[in-house]
Amino acid sequence: MRYRYVYGPIPSRRLGRSLGISPIPDKTCNFSCIYCMLGRTDHLTGERQEFFALEDILAELKDALSHTSPPPDHVSIVGNGEPTLYLRLGELIQGARGLTSIPIAVITNGALLSEPAVRTALAEADIVLTSFNAPTEELFRRIDRPCPGIAFEAMKQGLVDFAHMPRRGQVWVEMMLLEGINDSPETLDQTRWVLQEVRPDRVFVDTPIRPPAESFAHPVTPDALVLAERALGGAQSSGFNFGAFTIATGTDPLETLAEVCKRHPMREDQATLLLVNSGIDPLPVLDALRADARFRVEHYGGQTFFLVREGNGGSVG
Ligand code: SF4
Repeated sequence: MRYRYVYGPIPSRRLGRSLGISPIPDKTCNFSCIYCMLGRTDHLTGERQEFFALEDILAELKDALSHTSPPPDHVSIVGNGEPTLYLRLGELIQGARGLTSIPIAVITNGALLSEPAVRTALAEADIVLTSFNAPTEELFRRIDRPCPGIAFEAMKQGLVDFAHMPRRGQVWVEMMLLEGINDSPETLDQTRWVLQEVRPDRVFVDTPIRPPAESFAHPVTPDALVLAERALGGAQSSGFNFGAFTIATGTDPLETLAEVCKRHPMREDQATLLLVNSGIDPLPVLDALRADARFRVEHYGGQTFFLVREGNGGSVG
């Protein structure tokens, strides 16, 4: 069944089979990160709104949960941009919790952690995965390109405050590493000092593995990633990994791949592996995906990716 706000389950880098909720319009964000796989932000805003009726989102979630078998590993509030811009986020988390005992995760850029109301809302989640890409204002503005009104020091302090307030779940922090931009030993040292103050439950360091918004946002090498893991005091990195994810019998493989591509640009070799692991001949499905007007093919880093065309949705996480 196709929904407007709920999608998946899709394979998530860290959350396994993740049933996603997108409570905001496409590419609505308070950042326009140079590495964003969704391209440049076209709705750059810092204004929190109830973009869609809470009741409609929860009704879809209830229906999706009743039709998802096996159950997903997580319900994740992600969005095609920044989900803390959804004004009734706290009620959304609580409403979702009323429907399922599956852990609820929120993936955020952390910009609005400076706001007490956002911290209170996020404190209800089982996992809050927040970005922290730069330890200084100058680097923050260069990488994340925030909308007016977002102050680096307030955001950083908000992260520290959130990490130390009474919370239901865990705080995970992710740093996106970009070659020649935030990968120097000095930057990593400064980031480690901030993280020592935050004391998150888990730290991830990653690098773009899909085409970024700006061509100058280059990934670091695998060696640099390992060095950064150490420099950050034992961070983990992860590639885009399908794990045990397969396409369920009886579902349309093209639509399943299309759904994944809408959320994550998908590498051709991963799509092939997913189909083969699911006992499906990959060639006709990949041919159909190439011919589907909703998607386009892009080459990046020696790999072929399937991406959604503008106006057909997309999200991070
Ligand atoms: S990477 Fe996330 S925070 Fe950055 S612009 Fe894209 S959606 Fe917004």
